[in-house]
Amino acid sequence: MIKQLKDFLNTYLLVELWRGLRVTGRYLFKEKFTVQYPEEKIPKSPRFRGLHALRRYPNGEERCIACKLCEATCPACCIYIEAGPQGEDGMRRTTRYDIDLFVCIYCGYCEEACPVDAIVLTRFSEFCFESREGTLIHKQQLLEMGDRFEAEIAADRAADARYR
Ligand code: SF4
Ligand code: SF4
Repeated sequence: MIKQLKDFLNTYLLVELWRGLRVTGRYLFKEKFTVQYPEEKIPKSPRFRGLHALRRYPNGEERCIACKLCEATCPACCIYIEAGPQGEDGMRRTTRYDIDLFVCIYCGYCEEACPVDAIVLTRFSEFCFESREGTLIHKQQLLEMGDRFEAEIAADRAADARYR
């Protein structure tokens, strides 16, 4: 009987609603944690693993020597490389370097495996796919990503090296 009366009063006086509002009220004037994305962005770690890029040396030469270690180490098997002698010097270079971004799990093993720091994962994460074919990123696009973000990549890798 007492329990029923208590339940009735709880319901009638909206006790649980007031309890919830008390929690809301406690946070009403506190510092807000939400950010207004995309105008505001949270800081990213130098180790953030976003979209891939292929880097060049300062003289413009491609870093990649087509050793295929990244392809061999990729646990998702989403890197496809073809290679052969390229240019006037006949150096071994990739003729095809594709990554299937839909299959990639962004583990970063490819950049860990690369002996010349050629393939890296950038901080860039704002990308999407509009078709199945669009999930494949090709060598030229990877090089363009590297050119675009080289300053940031170099700074991130220098910062990261200090913690190793
Ligand atoms: S980040 Fe991982 S899954 Fe993606 S390409 Fe590199 S090794 Fe493969
Ligand atoms: S990106 Fe690095 S690991 Fe992959 S083929 Fe080129 S040099 Fe080798």
